[in-house]
Amino acid sequence: MGRRNLSPIVKEVLVHFLKKPATQKYPEVKPEIPDGFRGKQVFDINLCVGCGLCSRDCPSGAIEMIEVDGKKRPHFHLDLCIFCYQCAESCPRNAIKSSKIFELASAQKSDLFLKPQPSLQKEGVKK
Ligand code: SF4
Ligand code: SF4
Repeated sequence: MGRRNLSPIVKEVLVHFLKKPATQKYPEVKPEIPDGFRGKQVFDINLCVGCGLCSRDCPSGAIEMIEVDGKKRPHFHLDLCIFCYQCAESCPRNAIKSSKIFELASAQKSDLFLKPQPSLQKEGVKK
């Protein structure tokens, strides 16, 4: 490779070196999550009447109705979920809400469940 061919490459490197980075320094700098973001579901078992409409209408088959204390409750399979929030639309009791929780990546499939819990998760709940 001659010196003539090297010059444009060096120029290109210098130009990009001085440019503002196109990417964010995630995870050191957390992104600002906009209102209305469709993150991990927050399910309030106290509002749920076990009608199963969320499960029936889920286009991904991501909601399995399971028995909790003798009543049917939705169990979310987040590995199947496409975060369309049809489940929240279909719920007559407003028992499913979106949140700003987006860091769901995991090497364990068992982390990708949202099991029906008696207490409401507060973190990042959309009001
Ligand atoms: S957000 Fe969409 S895909 Fe996910 S559980 Fe609800 S209805 Fe199913
Ligand atoms: S649609 Fe709402 S009330 Fe009905 S089972 Fe699902 S979460 Fe419960």
